[in-house]
Amino acid sequence: MTVGAHGSDAFLGAVRSGLGDAALDTDAATLERYGTSRLPGGPRGPLAVVCPASTEDVVALVDLARTHRIALWPVSAGENIALGERAPIHAGQVVVDMGRRMNRVLEIDETLGFVEIEPGVTFQGLYDELQRRGSDLMISTTSGPPTGSLLGNALDKGAGHTPSFDQFGSLCGMEIVLGTGEVMRTGDGSYPGAATWHLSRYGYGPVVDGLFAQSNLGVVTRAGLWLQKRPPVIRSFFFAFPDDGDLGEIFEKVRPLRQSGQVAMPVKVTSDLYVAGTEESYPFDAMGGRTPISDEARNALQERHGIGAWMVGAAIYGASEADVNARIDRIRALMEAGGRARYIPHEEAIERPMLKAQVDFFSGVPTSHELGLLKWRDRAGGKGRGATWYLTTCPMRGADATAMQARSRAILAEHGLDYLAAFGCGPRGARALHLIIFDRSDPEECARVSACYRALSNAHGAVGLPVSRTSLDFQQEEMDRREVVPSVLRRLKAVLDPDGIIAPGRYGV
Ligand SMILES: Cc1cc2nc3c(=O)[nH]c(=O)nc-3n(C[C@H](O)[C@H](O)[C@H](O)COP(=O)(O)OP(=O)(O)OC[C@H]3O[C@@H](n4cnc5c(N)ncnc54)[C@H](O)[C@@H]3O)c2cc1C
Repeated sequence: MTVGAHGSDAFLGAVRSGLGDAALDTDAATLERYGTSRLPGGPRGPLAVVCPASTEDVVALVDLARTHRIALWPVSAGENIALGERAPIHAGQVVVDMGRRMNRVLEIDETLGFVEIEPGVTFQGLYDELQRRGSDLMISTTSGPPTGSLLGNALDKGAGHTPSFDQFGSLCGMEIVLGTGEVMRTGDGSYPGAATWHLSRYGYGPVVDGLFAQSNLGVVTRAGLWLQKRPPVIRSFFFAFPDDGDLGEIFEKVRPLRQSGQVAMPVKVTSDLYVAGTEESYPFDAMGGRTPISDEARNALQERHGIGAWMVGAAIYGASEADVNARIDRIRALMEAGGRARYIPHEEAIERPMLKAQVDFFSGVPTSHELGLLKWRDRAGGKGRGATWYLTTCPMRGADATAMQARSRAILAEHGLDYLAAFGCGPRGARALHLIIFDRSDPEECARVSACYRALSNAHGAVGLPVSRTSLDFQQEEMDRREVVPSVLRRLKAVLDPDGIIAPGRYGV
């Protein structure tokens, strides 16, 4: 049976009487806000917004959705910027705002280093709570919104900028309401009364947790999250490389640093516009209205901000100043050999807001500085802030990075768009992030952005580099490129959510 908006009045009435007035929001301004995103695909208005206050509420909601054949779209904080935010994939679905009323830190275990959280706990919220308690624990910050949720970010396979960057991998033991209405606890949580739910990641038997990442198989109501201990000293380092063509050398130098463990967090390699665009806007006047930006205008930005065509940065966590300084000296020796890199020390970086923001998120301190990128091409007083990610993986080899850069720059330029790229470099692969910033008040530009995304996905896909995370606009297309897994997921969906009421269409399932 197709899930639709049939019986929606009866459903909304039942939600109001079952979950209470506070749980239901059908205010026109709310629906407009929840349906709006920065994506080129435009708004997708929900039928209603429901805000459960407990796991029992979620079970009741799932039950009502099954009875009335209503599609639910769960989000935690709904800050998935440039991927969809709060909007459902199809207009008319009911957004389940898990974060509005379920936002408690349920437990902080200082000794063992974990927390148990509800969906609405944000990066800023947990950071503040740990500070308030004078805790030794620290969060793994992203460069995204501090108002984003730890759980939503992890469930979408987000990445942080600290040694525990693997956000989904830092979850341990989840509570999930399935489309059948069953409440399942993963890992050791399946054992009644287990004291080890948030300690033993794989539990007993098959590991089912992964089924709930980028998924529509259940609604996650709480989870354990491992936190790291704040080290005595955190010290950042940066290098500016002058030319676009230096990217290959950077990858060759960074790979051994990551493989040997000399740098324990993703090394952030960022293009000039990705750094400068956090504070600057597109120079429409200097460019005579033409896009994309010229090399001369880019050079002017590089000079004005004392950055290179590429910026390389990370931080070292250590026991003492002497310890981290010795380690940074060794990294300098490697990076500066060859004469291309200009070293920028921690003391200088913290005086420069563009780099200070990176120092913050390398250190577990939330910052909204990078969100400044959203205004880069806005000519409509805020209404033009369009953004969408193209995210893939680049093998950690110089030749691959060079080829990827050439393909991406050419495709973006053909579409009149700028190259804003950031690589989160690991030992084997780098998360290759392309942020496509555009004026979403211009329908022609929106259409061009969608065409550009497809061209990027086709070109990199043709050499075996698939997308790793994508926006609502392209989730179906990206799943359609895969083999076998889609049909397995459809069969799992039929078992775990027989009426297809949880986020139908999410990630193309
Ligand atoms: C400039 C900029 C920088 C960014 N930097 C980063 C970065 O460094 N790392 C990064 O990962 N992201 C980054 N982002 C992307 C994004 O904004 C963050 O990932 C953000 O934390 C996601 O929002 P959220 O945490 O509120 O998740 P939500 O929007 O609440 O959730 C994300 C998705 O997870 C699923 N989901 C959420 N909650 C539930 C639930 N309870 N049950 C079932 N499914 C659920 C839904 O599919 C939802 O759409 C950046 C964005 C911008 C604009």
